[in-house]
Amino acid sequence: MVGGGYSGTMLAVRLADRGIHSTLINRSPDFGLGVAYATPFDGHLLNVRTSRMSAVEARPDDFLDWLRARNPACADPDGFAPRRLFGLYVQDRLAAAEAAHPGRIDRIIGAVVAVESDGVRLADGRVVIADAVVLATGNPAPKTTAGDGAGDRLLNDPWAAGALARIGADDDILIIGTGLTMVDMLLQLTAGGWRGRATALSRRGLLPRAHPLQHDTPANPTPGMVAGPASQRLGEGRRLARTGGWRAMMDGLRPVTADLWRDTAPAVRSRLVRHLRPWWDVHRHRLAPTVAGVIDGLVTDGRLRVAAGRVRRIAATAEGVSLDWTPRHGTTDASGVGGWLIDCTGPGHDPVRDPLTGPLIVAGRARLDALGLGLDLDGDGRVLGADGAADPRLFVLGPPARAAFWETIAVPDIRQRIEAVAAALTGGSA
Ligand SMILES: Cc1cc2nc3c(=O)[nH]c(=O)nc-3n(C[C@H](O)[C@H](O)[C@H](O)COP(=O)(O)OP(=O)(O)OC[C@H]3O[C@@H](n4cnc5c(N)ncnc54)[C@H](O)[C@@H]3O)c2cc1C
Repeated sequence: MVGGGYSGTMLAVRLADRGIHSTLINRSPDFGLGVAYATPFDGHLLNVRTSRMSAVEARPDDFLDWLRARNPACADPDGFAPRRLFGLYVQDRLAAAEAAHPGRIDRIIGAVVAVESDGVRLADGRVVIADAVVLATGNPAPKTTAGDGAGDRLLNDPWAAGALARIGADDDILIIGTGLTMVDMLLQLTAGGWRGRATALSRRGLLPRAHPLQHDTPANPTPGMVAGPASQRLGEGRRLARTGGWRAMMDGLRPVTADLWRDTAPAVRSRLVRHLRPWWDVHRHRLAPTVAGVIDGLVTDGRLRVAAGRVRRIAATAEGVSLDWTPRHGTTDASGVGGWLIDCTGPGHDPVRDPLTGPLIVAGRARLDALGLGLDLDGDGRVLGADGAADPRLFVLGPPARAAFWETIAVPDIRQRIEAVAAALTGGSA
């Protein structure tokens, strides 16, 4: 397994259950955490309710039961626990599997730099031979160059440890991106006593929506939503959202999203990605109610200004950095200034430039999907070569598998993919 975040770690656990040995390779010693759960800050809450965050498909209450035993104050099935606790829970599950099946999981700390025909090579020259390789490399740092003009006032990897340390308590900041990464940064800054103001810009200026306090019941998708032309399906979705609520409609789509995506023609997928994706993302990946309250408070207090538009110019100034943009609905350019610019454009997936997958594409061992979102995969996550044949020894799991499954970012989706990959690797069924 290349990558020891949630995806690689829990796949190793599931394989150990099935009697299979695996080697879990991660850049850092904090196996089980990855970017999402490595945060030490308790204000970074899960954006999925506790009752839906089991790491194991067959045991829906596994995380809830773990919280009841380990941290009862957070064991509310409808609540949103600190992400830090989810990381500890995954680490516990890894340790339990290692104890129950000694020798079935090996951990290696190191960076994999190449996928060979019979295993992987690490940066320090070590080679790990394997019958199969699973790329579970997760969420890469942002890849935009939008902020480059900001010079040393650009914070271009906001998830790096201590990334926000240079921001002073009264500094104003500029942010590119208005999604979940922006929210994470503002929460952390605010909790640390930051009193400045923020200007956040994205193409559409959309903010993630909030979960309601009480759990919604998902509405089963109607036949009109899962068959027929895309425009008709969208119309039916809107109708259902008006009558039964948009949250219930979106949640009802969750179990069928991957199938719908796979059944959709590339030309239609392309239109969906271009026009619908920002709307999909803010409705699908929602905020815990208390988190939404903090962001609403910043807007109400005039400390967070959210703008829609296209970056025109970013420049370092004597005081910090300036940002000019062309508003989405307007003709006159707008501008903002701040001490720092934070790149919150989100994970920068780029399979062609990625040092692991780029060479696979060049060698014909892998190919891009029609939209260039990621590697082309079969229904179990096997990598398809240039000739369209699935490689039985090479898999992709987690967020980098998005071209094949679209929603494979959050735990409830990834844990289903883990079962599929585990079954494919052991010749069984999921
Ligand atoms: C900030 C943030 C918050 C999130 N919050 C939630 C949430 O509340 N609920 C939810 O369900 N989902 C959430 N997610 C979605 C998240 O994608 C998944 O929950 C999950 O963490 C994905 O795990 P992963 O193992 O696939 O990827 P990652 O967590 O990114 O882990 C990948 C690991 O692979 C390592 N790696 C990468 N390349 C190499 C290499 N070449 N060699 C060695 N190691 C390598 C990385 O260092 C990393 O440790 C969040 C995501 C982010 C970014």
